Amino acid sequence: MSFTLPNLPYAKDALAPHISANTLDFHHGKHHATYVKNLNGLVEGTDLENASLEEVIQSVAGDASKGGIFNNAAQIWNHTFYWHSMKPQGGGKPSGALAAKIEKDFGSYDDFVAQFKKAGATQFGSGWAWLVVEGGKLKILKTANAETPLTQSGVTPLMTCDVWEHAYYLDFQNRRPDYLSTFLEHLVNWDFAAENLSKAG
Ligand code: MN
Repeated sequence: MSFTLPNLPYAKDALAPHISANTLDFHHGKHHATYVKNLNGLVEGTDLENASLEEVIQSVAGDASKGGIFNNAAQIWNHTFYWHSMKPQGGGKPSGALAAKIEKDFGSYDDFVAQFKKAGATQFGSGWAWLVVEGGKLKILKTANAETPLTQSGVTPLMTCDVWEHAYYLDFQNRRPDYLSTFLEHLVNWDFAAENLSKAG
């Protein structure tokens, strides 16, 4: 088996009451796990079997005949990135260099919040909202389904919020905007975003 399901970086009940253990049980234990199982089945016996996850994503991106491999590989990567984009007692305004950069690039923290929530709420159907850095400037992106900024040259993802219904339906039902507010107020892991920003140079 080439690919394995990474453990959550916190206990399954650590994000409650904002995201329940029940949601993480399904989201990590079923959805994320299924992408791993599917990818292993799809690459078995091919030259991608021993590639890294990032290599698989880059090598099949844009190739319609490899859509199944791309979707499962990118969803594995996106979910692992999402788990690290949250932490218990997270959320609220960041501090330090990241806070200054957000104020510089978005005008204010409140402007960043409004833009991030808008991106997540207006992603029609399934997808992801992202904070990224491109050319030294912070930007917000939204991607559909399994699409990931990893395949966009010059773009480094800093943190993401999963806006597929399976990420929030058990806790928020159809209220995606409330889930996005909760993510920013109580969950987002600014240490992870700052670390990714510093590595982007
Ligand atoms: Mn998901």
